[in-house]
Amino acid sequence: MQKEITFYLSPEEAANSDVYINYLSQFTGVKKTQISYFRLLKRTIDARSRNIKIHLTFEVFIDELPPQIITEKRKYIDVSNKKAVVIVGAGPAGLFAALKLIELGIKPVIIERGKDVHTRKLDIASLNRENLMNEESNYCFGEGGAGTFSDGKLYTRSTKRGNVKEILDILIEHGASEEICIDAHPHIGTDKLPKIISNIRETIVNCGGEYHFNSKVTDLIIENSIIRGVVTNNKDSYFGESVILATGHSASDVYHLLQEKKVALEVKPFAIGVRVEHQQQLIDSIQYHQPERGNLLPAASYNVIQQVEGRGVFSFCMCPGGIIVPASTGKEQVVVNGMSNSQRNSPFANAGIVVGLEVEDFSQYSEYGALAGLYFQSAIEKAAFNAGGKTQTAPAQRMVDFVNDRTSANLPPTSYIPGIVSASIKEILPHFITSRLKLAFKEFNNKMKGFYTNEAVLLGVETRTSSPVRIPRDKETLEHIQIKNLFPCGEGSGYAGGIVSSAIDGVRCAEKVVERINNK
Ligand SMILES: Cc1cc2nc3c(=O)[nH]c(=O)nc-3n(C[C@H](O)[C@H](O)[C@H](O)COP(=O)(O)OP(=O)(O)OC[C@H]3O[C@@H](n4cnc5c(N)ncnc54)[C@H](O)[C@@H]3O)c2cc1C
Repeated sequence: MQKEITFYLSPEEAANSDVYINYLSQFTGVKKTQISYFRLLKRTIDARSRNIKIHLTFEVFIDELPPQIITEKRKYIDVSNKKAVVIVGAGPAGLFAALKLIELGIKPVIIERGKDVHTRKLDIASLNRENLMNEESNYCFGEGGAGTFSDGKLYTRSTKRGNVKEILDILIEHGASEEICIDAHPHIGTDKLPKIISNIRETIVNCGGEYHFNSKVTDLIIENSIIRGVVTNNKDSYFGESVILATGHSASDVYHLLQEKKVALEVKPFAIGVRVEHQQQLIDSIQYHQPERGNLLPAASYNVIQQVEGRGVFSFCMCPGGIIVPASTGKEQVVVNGMSNSQRNSPFANAGIVVGLEVEDFSQYSEYGALAGLYFQSAIEKAAFNAGGKTQTAPAQRMVDFVNDRTSANLPPTSYIPGIVSASIKEILPHFITSRLKLAFKEFNNKMKGFYTNEAVLLGVETRTSSPVRIPRDKETLEHIQIKNLFPCGEGSGYAGGIVSSAIDGVRCAEKVVERINNK
């Protein structure tokens, strides 16, 4: 007999997997010797009360052997002599599109403006330590895209759009821990992601796929509304059956290029705010209802949302035990985001707290058409740069000081390596954003007692939450509504957001590209 069984244990009991068989025998009511096989399917922490429970779901076989579990790897075939498809961008969308193309017998040709993931690390170190911004190699640009030096949170709400399990399995095949299929809110960590990304490259290259690093697409070869290929800053041209454009939401030059080429674009709402940092110990004590979390529980996270004067104010990309990083891509910008390593063991907890925008909010930039939101975003990033002292130092203010319009006389310690400087956040963000943030911080305190504290610090600005532009595509074919063979893909297309959702979009675009090639 095969059974799925869920029960809960204390964190102490759940930490000892050697005795799971005893609990399974107890909860199924059969002898231990009758249990021929079991495996953990899901693990969730229930911290709603002081009495924290770990919910565990197992698959159990009783008096019966499980069918032979064949963990066959996906078949990636040699595509070196097959038809080629150009993929612009080696982020999650581009890489998962490439793997799917190979499975379906098409050769991916990946064009990436940044460097390979290991060389990229050096530029990221210089950005953090010496304020040196390399506009082609940073937290957003380079092999692996924006998802590489991140928390690697793999939770997504876009389960209806595609196969999350397929994405997680591929990550496991390339070196991620199998735990990502078990934990309710899995994450990989920035210390593990680069190796997984280089393993994916190895798969693609071994099958005959091509990578071209340090190659920024600067032009599109379009004839009679059909895209034939792309041109790079090195003056190289690459041609293919189709072009998958997976350049992420930070490649503003790509949106400008598309607008210049009169490729249809749409303005899109997104969200803007600040990154808030607390001591992790405070968040642990709020969420776990006890002063210390001990060794058995992970660094606690939170997820808050509040309607304020008709707009959603919500936490975004919360990083428990993480650090705040400079996520700008240009020399005169300050943008912050968060990441963590697999252990999530920094003493800080950070999250974006952002206000949902509407396209009317960008009306002062309406002369720029579909790029209005991009101009609005860029003006705020420039204001943060000026307020921070024209380096990557971020403007910052204590939370209660911000709410009470007081300049912070001093600032608490922070994880943000380039450093912070006391500034007035209300001088950087528009009033309709700061006024809602002020109300929301107090409201959040009703849900998380202790959240509203002057020991928390706000760093400006969190502007890259999702794309401010949509590159419209057909709902069914995923092809651009006007340019044939062009497949806008991933976060930059405006149809995805986050690592898994962008990877799923990459898979879907690859499938549609192949459908199109086969129907020609
Ligand atoms: C610091 C940080 C932390 C994050 N943490 C998480 C997290 O924990 N979980 C999560 O789900 N999401 C997280 N995100 C968001 C996530 O990284 C993105 O949603 C995801 O990477 C989008 O994937 P993508 O492939 O569509 O685009 P991207 O990852 O942005 O990749 C686009 C790629 O295109 C390249 N490119 C751009 N323009 C050109 C050009 N002209 N020519 C050639 N190449 C070009 C870029 O260099 C880049 O490699 C984080 C982002 C950041 C910055």
